[in-house]
Amino acid sequence: MKAPANILTAATVTGFMFGPSPVTITVAVTASLMPDIDTPQSTAGRIPIVPSLINTIFGHRTATHSLTALIITSLAVKTVSPELALAWAIGYGIHILLDMLTPQGVMFFWPYSAWVGTGILKNGGIFEVLYTLALAALNTTSVWGKTLWTETAKKLIEHVGSLIPS
Ligand SMILES: [Zn+2]
Repeated sequence: MKAPANILTAATVTGFMFGPSPVTITVAVTASLMPDIDTPQSTAGRIPIVPSLINTIFGHRTATHSLTALIITSLAVKTVSPELALAWAIGYGIHILLDMLTPQGVMFFWPYSAWVGTGILKNGGIFEVLYTLALAALNTTSVWGKTLWTETAKKLIEHVGSLIPS
């Protein structure tokens, strides 16, 4: 799946679960992009060297799209912030789940090399576009969406304001 589908799904799910928290939503959205660090063409793959290296060693949608990676990265986040580990796991898991809906699927049980995919959604196809638009509409037109993003923006502005010395 493309970055907008992952970002909107992660933001919507964590918004529903945890309410308007800029930090939680940012962590979940970041996590939702990280599995694609295994391909230089992705949003997360724009950092130098690492994506090409991972892609050469493991290939696309293998190690970074696995239950193993989900657990290891979530535990790593938990050592830094136990409160944010669940948001990370949700964001990361959403990416893997969405990629499982495509025909290619993912190597979910890596290092076991079986591919898990359903073929319900074609990557970048019309249903992915419609799904992304539906989520965008939910987040911008619904009372819930407007409240979530207004409150998130308010909290973010308050947080940034508190960082500026008076
Ligand atoms: Zn992916």
